[in-house]
Amino acid sequence: MALINIDNEKCNLSYSCVRICPVNAIKVEAHQDYPEIMHNACIGCGHCLKVCSPGAISYRDSKEETKTLLASDDKVAAICGPSISGEFHDITDYRKFVDMIRALGFDYVLEASFGVDLVAHRYNDLFTGFKGKYYITANCPAVVSYIEKFHPGLTDNLAPIVSPMIATTKVARKKYGNGLKVVYIGPCVETKREGKRYRDDGRVDSVLTFTELRELFTEYDITEKKVEFSDFDPPIGFKGSLYPISTGILEAAGIDQGLLDGKVITAEGRNSMLEAVNQFEKHIDNIKKHFNLFYNEGCIMGPGTSRGGEKFRRHALVIDYAKKRLKNFDSRKWEKDMEEFGKLDLSRKFKKDDQRLPYPDEDKIQEILQVIGKEHNVDEIGCASCGYTSCRDFAVAVARGLAKTEMCLTFTLKNRHDYIKTLRDTNQKLAETQEALKKSEKNARRDQQLARESFETTRTMLEKLPSSVVLVDSELKVIQANKSFINMLDEEARMIEDIIPGLEGADLKTLLPYNFYNLFSYVLNQDDNIVNRDVHFNEILYNVSIFTIRKNKVVGAVIRDLYVPEVRKEEVIKRVTDVIDKNLELVQKIGFLLGEGASETEAMLNSIIESYKMPEKPEKDGE
Ligand code: SF4
Ligand code: SF4
Repeated sequence: MALINIDNEKCNLSYSCVRICPVNAIKVEAHQDYPEIMHNACIGCGHCLKVCSPGAISYRDSKEETKTLLASDDKVAAICGPSISGEFHDITDYRKFVDMIRALGFDYVLEASFGVDLVAHRYNDLFTGFKGKYYITANCPAVVSYIEKFHPGLTDNLAPIVSPMIATTKVARKKYGNGLKVVYIGPCVETKREGKRYRDDGRVDSVLTFTELRELFTEYDITEKKVEFSDFDPPIGFKGSLYPISTGILEAAGIDQGLLDGKVITAEGRNSMLEAVNQFEKHIDNIKKHFNLFYNEGCIMGPGTSRGGEKFRRHALVIDYAKKRLKNFDSRKWEKDMEEFGKLDLSRKFKKDDQRLPYPDEDKIQEILQVIGKEHNVDEIGCASCGYTSCRDFAVAVARGLAKTEMCLTFTLKNRHDYIKTLRDTNQKLAETQEALKKSEKNARRDQQLARESFETTRTMLEKLPSSVVLVDSELKVIQANKSFINMLDEEARMIEDIIPGLEGADLKTLLPYNFYNLFSYVLNQDDNIVNRDVHFNEILYNVSIFTIRKNKVVGAVIRDLYVPEVRKEEVIKRVTDVIDKNLELVQKIGFLLGEGASETEAMLNSIIESYKMPEKPEKDGE
């Protein structure tokens, strides 16, 4: 399992981790939402853990590994980092704390302050025996990783001395046997990786953070009340217990820290440490000092300590504890131990692990600056809300695929403004469309009403007509028929009307004989109107006109019963008039040839017309 992990389920996409990571080891690629840790680039500083408010970031849990060691037949030693005094202030006596650890099943409980004393002496030798080369202390594992990965050119300037954790581990194995298993308990996360770097007497089998130790106490219900006093197993340290404070190791080494004659500069905390390494690289020939560096503000504030710790309170607790331990201190025993264990090999080598990414093309950087609207602001000034020190650095990160443009606050705000404007415009258009829709809906309703009214008017008019009227569609289905049409049908057809009122939808073929409905088919198919055709139906002679209403889709017919006296009279007049009109020329020619005879023929025909034009005599009552 990787050292640092992100749980996407808990992540709220704040990107605080991306902004705080000192080495840009957390990337957000253009196509992804969630941040992703680049484990090879991560230096294990744990800063991302501290800023992740939903607790989406966690470090590798070593509790199970430790439990397995404790359950084995091997002897297991716990080595406690000197910063226990700053963390476990809720336990009233350190001897109770030691016994609580024993209650977990550890065979030995040692304090790393003796390892600090050993290492401090090596630093004293290195710094006082100056041979023209300046060194950076290698006690903070995050600093060591940072230099190996991002300033590999300074790897040779790392002090070639193991950390107090490794020194104490070597001491424990020398004293309690090489088969001893070692669990280091400290405030740091990167120590989990550092411990696995060593083989033989320097190897650390597991590393618990203070937070994990508290979790184990809770899991096994181990409290101060349930244990007795118990002291640390030897060897006991001297001033090494001051190590959690950044200058503590110099104090333990007796190295001069005076401004005029001091040989070492101490820097602690993310920004100071990064700046110190930069300046060491650039200006060490002017600075001419060794550097004592810590990523955090001393070990008391490491990412493996409880959240919410207060630096100066922890600082005071560490000093109080150191004073208490130095009372009645057995310096002769300490000197003897120092002599014995001072012979251990505490040397160390480092390896370059260059994780720097190639610098992108200038064109690409300019393109990105243009996208985020910063092409005219390419100097070192930036709002830093993206986590990068300048807009240019941010553009470089985007070009390297580590960040996406949306992480730029001004770009996002501008996009948001544009988006809001678009949204507003769209809303405006929507409102206008809705208004237009309302109007057209109103118009449509009015048109519908008008159509309904005119339909009703037509229907009423049709009903009032003495002639039969029927409209049919392309399949000869009745669209509309008036009462006269229904009355002219036979009994069977009228029964259909009982089932289908108005005969709407009834098949014309079931209502009329073939010779009749075929005329409708003809007009539908040929689009040729039939005017005044006589058709016999039910022993009545009808005058039929069929005409196209919608080409090939709808035809209508007007059918008149020629046996109705008014119709008959009107028809006879019309037809005789037609005969006279059509034959007028012929009559004139005949008249010309026959003289008076032709005039008589015309007079006779006119008299027929007149006789039909005369009103009928009203029927007498009772006739
Ligand atoms: S800080 Fe935590 S919540 Fe925010 S982006 Fe990083 S992992 Fe997600
Ligand atoms: S532990 Fe440090 S280096 Fe690693 S991802 Fe988190 S902030 Fe970056």
